[in-house]
Amino acid sequence: MTSALAASQLSAASLERLKAQVLDPGWCVACGACVGLCPYLVFHDGQVAAPDACGLEDGRCIDICPQAPEPDPDRKRADLLAALGRPQAEPLGPVLDAWWARALSPDLAGRVQYGGVVSALMSLALAEGLIGEAVLTQAGLRGAPEGVRVRERAEVLAASGSIYAAGGSLSALNQALAEPAEHALGLVGLPCQVLAAAAMAGHPRYAQARRLKLIVGLFCTLNLSARGLRGVLEAAGVREPVTRADFPPPPAGVLEVTTRKGSAAIPLDDVRPVVLPGCGLCPDLTSELADLSVGAAEGRPGWNTILVRSPQGRELLDLARSQGLLEIEEMPRQSYEHLCTAAANKRARARAAWKERVHG
Ligand SMILES: Cc1cc2nc3c(=O)[nH]c(=O)nc-3n(C[C@H](O)[C@H](O)[C@H](O)COP(=O)(O)OP(=O)(O)OC[C@H]3O[C@@H](n4cnc5c(N)ncnc54)[C@H](O)[C@@H]3O)c2cc1C
Repeated sequence: MTSALAASQLSAASLERLKAQVLDPGWCVACGACVGLCPYLVFHDGQVAAPDACGLEDGRCIDICPQAPEPDPDRKRADLLAALGRPQAEPLGPVLDAWWARALSPDLAGRVQYGGVVSALMSLALAEGLIGEAVLTQAGLRGAPEGVRVRERAEVLAASGSIYAAGGSLSALNQALAEPAEHALGLVGLPCQVLAAAAMAGHPRYAQARRLKLIVGLFCTLNLSARGLRGVLEAAGVREPVTRADFPPPPAGVLEVTTRKGSAAIPLDDVRPVVLPGCGLCPDLTSELADLSVGAAEGRPGWNTILVRSPQGRELLDLARSQGLLEIEEMPRQSYEHLCTAAANKRARARAAWKERVHG
């Protein structure tokens, strides 16, 4: 603890600490983990807000916040991996297998982000009863992302595709956990959300969260503020709802957005100002605490990279393969090495930013 994080904050109520250490300085990444746990935190227009005071000294909000400064990001991951009985490994976290794959079902074509692996696997997990419900993210009001609870394939497909903005989706997980039900839950989330979800599932005072049985994590370099993205789209003259968005690989240097009226390429220089500052503190490119992590396949449009991290993840992937739902190839060594380099670079940038946060 340092001058930047005053010692007095340690003894304050949990919500006061969350405000002082995360929300007020602008480090919140709007994962939504703290929203829906109690009446004191709400999600409004892309941001977490604490409109009222709460005196609880052992509130869960600060414990599960991926951006809370104690413990530091490396220790947080190490503790959670140890609790899951998984090894700590850099730069990608624990990896049992690495694949390239794409989904084969025709109904996924044209609506998924890349290879549709995430939607195919979540649909399968629901259909096979491995989980009874999943929390995904889809476009809500004014195209901003929000958490959605799904039980059927049609709902999974409706939530497919990537929205490059933070939508507080974990609030939907808290909502599901608050209901008196027993069924297993699944989650698709960004690295910050996967970290928070793992913290929820392992929290001694959040027994309901043990129902979370399957986490599919996304790769993520950065995320945008939902409000900021709206402004960027308006400034670029994009007024229709966005049906697809993508950051094509370098040297493109743009955010590509498609609406029913056509496409626009927005220069990254226009987008950078609305990157969430808190993303700079995140060392995790590949959702290290997930059961399966999924991202793009470098140089192979329409395909995904899959990192298998747990026996549950491997079981689901084997099931998908045995049912002929995915075309799977071994991930080329060179691509694996590039991914390792990208992950190591993100971690190094985050460690430097963390030092700056803590030491001022
Ligand atoms: C903010 C963000 C940054 C990303 N950065 C990278 C990156 O740097 N490198 C890389 O390889 N991949 C990145 N991805 C992941 C990539 O966009 C695809 O989601 C992933 O490759 C899976 O592809 P798919 O075809 O299987 O997806 P689909 O089958 O279309 O499924 C996509 C899933 O993502 C969920 N989703 C959509 N938007 C969000 C959101 N804002 N928050 C949480 N979940 C969401 C949907 O609910 C859906 O279940 C990023 C995704 C997001 C949302």
